[in-house]
Parts: sequence; structure tokens; C-alpha cells
Amino acid sequence: MACGFFIATRYSAGMRVAAIIVAAGRGERAGGSLPKQLQPLGGKPVYQWSVDAFSHHDRIEQIVLVVPNGDEDAYAAATNPNVKIVAGRETRTGSVKAGLDACALSDRDLVMIHDAARPGLSQETISALIEALEHADAAAPALVVSDALKRQTGSRLSNVSRENLYRVQTPQVFKLGAITAALSASNDLVDDLAAIEAQDGMVALIDGSETLAKITYPDDLNRLESLLMPHPPAPRFGTGFDVHAFEPGQEVVLCGVRIPHDQKLAGHSDADVAWHALTDAILGAAALGDIGDHFPPSDPQWKGAASEVFLKHAVELVAGAGWTVSSCDLTIICEAPKVKPHREAMREETARIIGLDTSAISVKATTTEGLGFTGRREGIAAQASAVLTPLQTNS
Ligand code: MG
Repeated sequence: MACGFFIATRYSAGMRVAAIIVAAGRGERAGGSLPKQLQPLGGKPVYQWSVDAFSHHDRIEQIVLVVPNGDEDAYAAATNPNVKIVAGRETRTGSVKAGLDACALSDRDLVMIHDAARPGLSQETISALIEALEHADAAAPALVVSDALKRQTGSRLSNVSRENLYRVQTPQVFKLGAITAALSASNDLVDDLAAIEAQDGMVALIDGSETLAKITYPDDLNRLESLLMPHPPAPRFGTGFDVHAFEPGQEVVLCGVRIPHDQKLAGHSDADVAWHALTDAILGAAALGDIGDHFPPSDPQWKGAASEVFLKHAVELVAGAGWTVSSCDLTIICEAPKVKPHREAMREETARIIGLDTSAISVKATTTEGLGFTGRREGIAAQASAVLTPLQTNS
């Protein structure tokens, strides 16, 4: 498929290739509280699918991610360190221009411009686009129109021929110098090909794919998830363990519940040994490090902190990675105080903080039959496990 006038012979084989991913829109039509490029899809945000697709292709040397103005730091912290983050502008064309300005290649090199809301980009499509530019000024994936088309005029419908009609997708690939020049006079184009078309450049269309469909409406996310993730990720499982020693005091805090006792637990925070173990189990299930990485005991801001802060943050971190806590199980190991009378309160507090039904939270207690440091009543140990399942997408 090709149309237009071919300006000159091109050889893409020796060209360097950059990729610009445009993720600057707010995407309100896709529903949910997050912009569509940030919504979780198969365990990672939508935009990260495109970052990964370009990262895995051996011809792509640079990746520029154009994000909503002001969100640069959040994206930089979340994505691959070699991705260049650029602030977007008011219009899509403005955001593409910002991305082009950030490309550190020569005018003769190639640039792919891609919508972050199209997560289903394959390695084959990237290769085919680079190849197509050997014989064209621009190239894009496209699908033929298969549905019947009608035009409404007043109350009447008339047929529109499907012949030679295409649905054009992204990425669209160009010579860096050519697209920069073509866009310099344009402010709000329907897509970047339009700038090349306006100069009578030759556009090659390669085979597009339904997996490259754009996420626009709430249902799109679920449909794409079933296309891209026919087998959803298996649940993740994590464990945690913690110990705190007794010191003089009047109560201990276990799962946020204050239990009168003739000693307290020593620690920089409120020393809630149970929630510390659980925080580690949740972080561990998503391979996100441990409680000490996120809340260093050496940091004075955590002195005396309520451990619900740690637990809540762990739940938020795994949600950011596309996971939700679906159940957890805790074992408190001590001779005293007696845990059982407080067990239901501990389950309810834990359920409240995590946002789960109490039926998914188990709290158990045991002794070590007088053996070891817990047997000598020197402190309390706790172990925890947590199961994470993929976060359901909004619909
Ligand atoms: Mg601890």
C-alpha cells in the first residue's frame, strides 16, 4: 500500500532510529480516575507497554516520552532510566514538536511517533515501518475499513464506498529533519502524516493490527487486555518477618490495636511488629524491596510514626505496579500478651487500612513453648504472607 509522490530514494538500513511516545493527554473519555496512559494493563501502566516495545527493538537508540506538563518527575521515577522525559504542550502537535526537539539525532535519521494509548506495538511492526521508509517519505500501519459506512444528511442515510479507505494507526515513521520541517508551520494536525501529505510526500502504509487499537473508551481497555494478555499474570506471593524487643512500658501495638501490657516494644516507629511483617510481605510479593528501603529507620521523620503509614504506602506502591492485595495471613509469636482476645479488632484494623473485606485477613498467634527469645519473653516476632492479584482495569 502506498500513495503520493516519492520525493527521493531513501536507505533506512544505516539510519539511527529514535522513538517519541506521546503520553501528554488527560484521556478523560477512557473513564477511571487516571489518564488512560497510566491505567494498569496486565500488571503495568498502558504507556509502559510502548516503552518496553521500543526498548526491546535493537534498532531503537533513543526513547523520548512526552508527558503532561508538571508530571515529569513522576514518570521519570516510574519508567526505564534511559527514557528521556519531556513536558507536553497544549496540543498533540505541540507535544510532538517538544519530543522532536529532544531527539539528539541528525536530520537524516529516523523518528517514530507513537501514541501511548496504543499499547499493542509488536517488534514486527517496528521493523516493517523502518523497512518501509526505504521507499517512502513516511510510513504508518493501517487497516482496511471492513464495516459498512453511511453518511447521515438530515434524516437520510447514504452509502459511502469503503474502497481505498484506511484506518491509520501509529507509530508513524519519518526522517527527523523532514517531519520537523513539515510540522514547523502546523499547530493542530489530526496526525503527523498530514504534515507530510500536505507537502505531497509519499506515504507507505504497512499492515496494521487490531492489537494496535487506541484506547479511547472504557471498554477499549478490557478488550485490549484480553488481546494482549490472553493469560493474565499469575498471582504473586510474598512473605515478611519482623522482631521487636520489649522495653519498659504499658502497652504494645499489634495491627494498629493498642493492647495493655506490662512492657512495650522498642522501635523507631510505633514498633507494630505485625504490620511491619505484613508491609514486607506486600512489598515482597511485588518485588519492590523492603520496609527499610522505603522508610529508613535512620530518617527522623519516621520516629514514632504510626505503622499504618507504612502499610498504606506499600498498598499504594503495589497498586502503581498493577497489583492489588487480595488476602493476607499473619502469625504473632509471643508468650504474652494474649493476642486472641484482640484478634478480631486486629483483623478489622488491617482490613480497613488495606481496603479489603475482613474475611480476607487472617491473624493467628502462637508461642514457642518457652524456647528462644520469644519464650524468654524478650520480645515479639511476627510473620506474614500476602497474595497479590492483577489490579482490575476500570470499566
Ligand atoms: Mg520493625
